[in-house]
Amino acid sequence: MDELLTQWQRPIQAFICEKCDWVYLAETSNTAVACPHCYQAKLTVLEADDIPKVYPPELVAEFILPVENVRKQLDQFAASITLAPTDLKTDNLMTRLRQMYVPIWLVDSSVRSIWQAEMGYNYKVVSHQEQYTGNQWQTFEQTETKVRWEQRLGKLNRRYHNITAPALEEHTILAKKMGSFDLKGDAVKKYQPQYIEKILVRVPNRDTVDAWSDAQPRFQENAIQECQKAGAGDHIRQFQWSPDFTDQNWTQLLLPLYSTCYYDDDHVARPILLNGRTGQIDGIKRASMRRAKKITRNLALLAGLFFIIALALFFYRPGFAILLGMLTIALGIGAITPIAIVSQFNRRQKNDIPFDPR
Ligand SMILES: [Zn+2]
Repeated sequence: MDELLTQWQRPIQAFICEKCDWVYLAETSNTAVACPHCYQAKLTVLEADDIPKVYPPELVAEFILPVENVRKQLDQFAASITLAPTDLKTDNLMTRLRQMYVPIWLVDSSVRSIWQAEMGYNYKVVSHQEQYTGNQWQTFEQTETKVRWEQRLGKLNRRYHNITAPALEEHTILAKKMGSFDLKGDAVKKYQPQYIEKILVRVPNRDTVDAWSDAQPRFQENAIQECQKAGAGDHIRQFQWSPDFTDQNWTQLLLPLYSTCYYDDDHVARPILLNGRTGQIDGIKRASMRRAKKITRNLALLAGLFFIIALALFFYRPGFAILLGMLTIALGIGAITPIAIVSQFNRRQKNDIPFDPR
């Protein structure tokens, strides 16, 4: 616990959602809240022995999406469901809106290596072409860029900082659903304890050994760029090195997500998540069978009423009665449409939990 306090500079504890297994860090005052990822269970405190090794935060991408944009996104989400459950109203979603952070690994490492590569240098070749332009020959000058390749060999001894690597098993699907977090320029800030006030922080579930295999190619990319710069080359190819990595230091970059939910017909909470910077939205969509059945019942009642009127009028106004009879049949067929639409819509929605790779 003391380690957490030292790292995060706030009195925080670890919590787990027994339903989706997401582990969070949060202040003790945040207990007994529903899991902001799946909304299927309340968070429970993790015993000290069960807490995974937690690494300190270093950088935070702040929430920058204005509230009115959050509202607009939720409006569109609600409008995208035909016959949405009655609880799916933007006001409800806004009342339940919460914030959380999801992590990405940041790793620093010293690298020593001998490297070799082919460095490419641009040079210009001027050629002259003779062309006959109708009544005389003319000379045209043409400039072409070519590349001269030279072998280069060197020594690299550097320390690289904040190379990123996925910290969650769900990283790929999360990145697909939430999109880029737009981390260019001064978008990320140095961690301050107030950033996590009343905000849950997801704990990495991908260990640093696994993540290291994703980080290594990024170190190589950096090394290639540096070698090219040092050799003043316009191009580089066939880069080879045998790096020796030492003094690795792992920290976290926190990415902002908004989370909210609505309740379906069976009062099951359905989560909706938004990228806290761009507003990209993803959520479980469920249409309301209850509303569909109500419409069907009303249409069927109307059809029944028309049928009775048609029968009563048959001997007095047969033409009108037949017309009414046809309308009754059309209404009868139309009555089942809402149920068909809703059941087909709900069948198409596969996952019950966001970012569930199944
Ligand atoms: Zn959960």
